[in-house]
Amino acid sequence: MLHETDQYQEIRDAIRHLCQQFPDEYFRKIDEQRGYPEQFVDALTRAGWMAALIPQEYGGSGLTMAEASVIMEEINRSGGNSGACHGQMYVMNAIVRSGSDKQKRDLLPRIASGDLRIQSMGVTEPTTGSDTTKLKTTATKKDGRWVINGQKVWISRIQHSDMMILLARTTPLAEVQKRSEGLSCFLIDLKEAVGQGLTVQPILNMVNHETNELFFDNLEIPEENLLGPEGKGFKTLLDGLNAERTLIAAECIGDGYWFIDRATKYAKERVVFGRPIGQNQGIQFPIAESLIELEAANLMRWKACEKIDGHENAGAAANMAKHLAAKASWEAANVCLQTHGGFGFACEYDVERKFRETRLYQVAPISTNMIFSYVAEHILGLPKSY
Ligand SMILES: Cc1cc2nc3c(=O)[nH]c(=O)nc-3n(C[C@H](O)[C@H](O)[C@H](O)COP(=O)(O)OP(=O)(O)OC[C@H]3O[C@@H](n4cnc5c(N)ncnc54)[C@H](O)[C@@H]3O)c2cc1C
Repeated sequence: MLHETDQYQEIRDAIRHLCQQFPDEYFRKIDEQRGYPEQFVDALTRAGWMAALIPQEYGGSGLTMAEASVIMEEINRSGGNSGACHGQMYVMNAIVRSGSDKQKRDLLPRIASGDLRIQSMGVTEPTTGSDTTKLKTTATKKDGRWVINGQKVWISRIQHSDMMILLARTTPLAEVQKRSEGLSCFLIDLKEAVGQGLTVQPILNMVNHETNELFFDNLEIPEENLLGPEGKGFKTLLDGLNAERTLIAAECIGDGYWFIDRATKYAKERVVFGRPIGQNQGIQFPIAESLIELEAANLMRWKACEKIDGHENAGAAANMAKHLAAKASWEAANVCLQTHGGFGFACEYDVERKFRETRLYQVAPISTNMIFSYVAEHILGLPKSY
């Protein structure tokens, strides 16, 4: 591949080495059992990789977005699924950027050491979906505490987090000038909240991705759990979302290489009609096309990293990178499955598992149409369509 050796080779080698302890069978078994790759996440955390984006003064390694993205890429390229733990790498971004000094001092070193898991971010709601600013969960101040009421859906990794970040409305929509105002972010201590106003209901889904419906019924949290300025929660989260999209783009790039490697290997080995199937243009051209599209998507991923690392506005590049990478990995997945014929459906080849896993990224954390809307409005200057 074009990026086989690059300036990040040391990180690549280290992650590949760690991932060798967690081969295909490990992830296959976890998938079969709908389990959580606890040992894998533990090993990554102990080695310090999950603290990549936490500044050094708070016990993290203060790596760049480009470096952090290589970690995610290599996990997925090795056959693993970063989706189980990527939240630990980027959810805390909101704390780094918008947390008070006390929140940073209290939380970041514990996140860096792995003592505290903050892997969940609660935004999506069942009745409002992509129309985020209309979300209905409210947080109201009462006797020096915040009282939270409402419902969230598809909130991932709750069972594997100690804390989550929640987006709720603190000023009614009718009373704000811009609909993105009046929303605030909160830190929720899950150990204290579950059963005391927060009910969690897992959602069985296509991927082995732990995700849940959340019901808030007069959940009370301390006043100081407000994260960032009151009413500016949308902004507090947005800053972190570009990081999330860029890291997920890198995961898709890793998936794409995995699919292309597997498809190529199988195409060389599988002999039908007296010759390797990879000798047929009908088999080799789609693999070649997938590689071209993946390499192009990868360029946009580096562009997004560059923007974030240069503290420039990364909105366009991060959205484009996520779109291109998710599309390229999905196309590579389809080609890989087709190349494997019937065996593509056999769990022991891992193709069907990775196929399901990579498909998610055209819907979450932001669906393709919302990226098109963003580009149409913010880059092309077309009227907002919703
Ligand atoms: C496995 C999984 C994990 C997730 N984890 C989290 C999480 O941890 N935290 C969290 O907050 N959310 C999470 N999500 C939610 C995810 O971000 C949403 O599913 C996604 O943003 C789409 O929202 P929706 O499902 O409500 O779809 P809807 O908003 O109902 O949209 C349905 C479809 O219609 C399209 N659409 C909607 N409006 C328009 C329009 N105006 N123009 C064109 N097309 C439109 C959308 O693009 C989409 O394809 C997760 C989802 C999944 C499946």
